[in-house]
Amino acid sequence: MAIDSHMHINSIVLSDKEKYIDAINNNDNIESVVNVALDLKSSEESINISKSNLKFFSSVGIHPLYVKSQNLETLYDLADNPKVIAIGEIGLDNTKSNFEEQKKYLVKQIMIANELNLPIIIHSNNSNKLIINIFEKYIKPKYGCVFHCFQPDLEDLKYLVTNNFYISFAGKITYKTAKKSIEVAKIVPDDLFLVETDSPYISPEPVRGDINETANIKYIINTLAKVKQKDYEEIEKITNENVKRLFKKMR
Ligand SMILES: [Zn+2]
Repeated sequence: MAIDSHMHINSIVLSDKEKYIDAINNNDNIESVVNVALDLKSSEESINISKSNLKFFSSVGIHPLYVKSQNLETLYDLADNPKVIAIGEIGLDNTKSNFEEQKKYLVKQIMIANELNLPIIIHSNNSNKLIINIFEKYIKPKYGCVFHCFQPDLEDLKYLVTNNFYISFAGKITYKTAKKSIEVAKIVPDDLFLVETDSPYISPEPVRGDINETANIKYIINTLAKVKQKDYEEIEKITNENVKRLFKKMR
């Protein structure tokens, strides 16, 4: 059974939400999912869903594109919950120019994670080096870190591996254009990578263009099995062990 280490039920339209939650609950190939928040509202929603659905775990956090006037004390209180397994997704996104505000939120949320013994889930849009710089100059995550949907760069990978930080592969690795991601997948150590759908975004081949759902995790595992010349079951086993080592509260 696979674990989807990063998805967003919160981004599914309200009228379809129950349908997507049921599909996961009823899918025998899915062990569990991490329902990742983008702001305070989706953090609360994610916690509520995980209360009544055993397979669902939550991360709470403010995504860099949603950093405007969010109360971080409320976030701290929300994070202190048995089903909240990480702070995320947090990070930097260079499609918006409010970089200073994004940086403040990132630093403060790493502080919260470090205080609550939680790992962080990083969103980086063309910002790997800036984030690494923040880790080195201001504050480093103490309880682990994953760069979700990792934008491939060998130098950044080297830094992450040296620090025992994780990367995760999403649907993009199944695309024909994913040469650099495949290069990264070949060399990333077996104990430092995760798989995710980032559902409902970035559907993998061969369902590209559809609304993405957790069941599609199989296409990502399959691609990694080919790239790393292992069995499907082996990749599933490795990534399940990895996700539980990083997100300790899932165990
Ligand atoms: Zn995401």
